[in-house]
Amino acid sequence: MGKISCIKINERDNVAIAVDAIPAGTTVIEGVVANQDIPQAHKIALCDIPQDAPVIRYGVVLGYAIDPIKKGDWINEHMLHLPVPPSVDNMTFASNIVTELPEPPVTTWEGYRNPNGGPAGTRNILGISTTVQCVTGVLNVAVKKMKEELLPKYPNVDDIVPINHAYGCGVAINAPEAKIPIRALRNLAKHPNFGGELMVVSLGCEKLTVDMLLDEADISPDNVIVLQEQQGFDAMIDALMAMADKKLARLNERRRETLPLSDLLIGMQCGGSDAFSGVTANPSAGYAADMLVKGGATVMFSEVTEVRDGVHIIGERCINEEVGRKLADEMRWYDHYLENGQVDRSANPTPGNKKGGLANIVEKAMGSIAKSGSSPIVEVLSPAERPTKHGLIYAATPASDIVCGPCQLASGIGLQVFMTGRGTPYGLAIAPVIKVCSRNDMKNMWQDLIDVNAGPIATGDSTIPEVGTELFSLIIDVASGRKQSFAEKYKLHNDLCIFNPAPIT
Ligand code: CA
Repeated sequence: MGKISCIKINERDNVAIAVDAIPAGTTVIEGVVANQDIPQAHKIALCDIPQDAPVIRYGVVLGYAIDPIKKGDWINEHMLHLPVPPSVDNMTFASNIVTELPEPPVTTWEGYRNPNGGPAGTRNILGISTTVQCVTGVLNVAVKKMKEELLPKYPNVDDIVPINHAYGCGVAINAPEAKIPIRALRNLAKHPNFGGELMVVSLGCEKLTVDMLLDEADISPDNVIVLQEQQGFDAMIDALMAMADKKLARLNERRRETLPLSDLLIGMQCGGSDAFSGVTANPSAGYAADMLVKGGATVMFSEVTEVRDGVHIIGERCINEEVGRKLADEMRWYDHYLENGQVDRSANPTPGNKKGGLANIVEKAMGSIAKSGSSPIVEVLSPAERPTKHGLIYAATPASDIVCGPCQLASGIGLQVFMTGRGTPYGLAIAPVIKVCSRNDMKNMWQDLIDVNAGPIATGDSTIPEVGTELFSLIIDVASGRKQSFAEKYKLHNDLCIFNPAPIT
């Protein structure tokens, strides 16, 4: 006995979450007896909550009781009205600037410096960009041959990655919002892991022309192959092999060097969250993020619908009015984007999120924001923009795992930390992904997929600083190439789903 059976986060909270499944009749804390079986991670009422009264977790209103809730009741997603989201007009900025951050145990790492500056590479990869999906079949055949015949000649190169995507033709290329997918593909072509080597495969008649993807100075036969200019399939493969051979030879000269943390840019996102995510995995990631920022690194977090309900908290951490105004503008843009689809942010939570005890998007958002730690936010980016500052950055991307990933890659992340409660084998081909789970059961189930287990925080067997420091060290080791995450080891990676809010024709 003496085990923690439920977790209350904030003094104001009138609910707690079950560490393990709680059978009806169990006294969870003094004076509170479970009226029903409470599933793991789900909420139990700590007092009577009258009809229309607020249900409070993380010190914020998750929603309002549809019917009266009795002390000891299980509170599920069907029992709450969603509150109105906080307004993005008249927000308060820069009123909560935290400067006391945890000291990182090290302040250097081993990375690949790039010829044009910017964040350093964490891996050494030949990235092959495409202007349109039509070239994918040919490119994939060529890449298989490159990996078999060329890559073994260049031991300092880690991989060859085709940047295949669904954009490029059959799209309204001049629509205002087409700037987002175009920016994403332009910035992906110049990912820090590609060492400044550009290789682009074009079909020849597509809407996304090479001059939209590359700078004028970079457009040359040394960097671009147009399939419609090749005399048949064999000639296409020969041209691709010849260009790759030259690029690989140059990449093979790259070497890691000891660099300050200011040359490191990493991303954070979560997927398949549960009610523990905001108690264990995300706060641990936030602690690691604070250490990285303290050491001079740049850390990006994203996922608009998962911060929307806590935007006032994010706004208070923006370093000035200008950064705050960009935050408000991005939130307005996304509100409008969702409205056009006749939904709102409540479309976000998944059946798995709900099964994992997350009643609604407010609860999910409060947990999601925890991964940003407590550092001041120095810059806000539109999707796929590159940061210009060091420190904590908010990039206003969709929350969808497979869309957020490419957006953050386009922003230049060299590594992504991914928090999960329900479990996903998610990965990225261009940069390693470290997975952190929120519960012991998840780690026990997926011993060989989860890199860091934050579950012991819920059972009182570990602390947020302990897991946060463990994660920080793993980030440095993986970024430096000394270790691989499970997703990298098994070469697990998802397709690059480029965010395209513009029409398809
Ligand atoms: Ca996500």
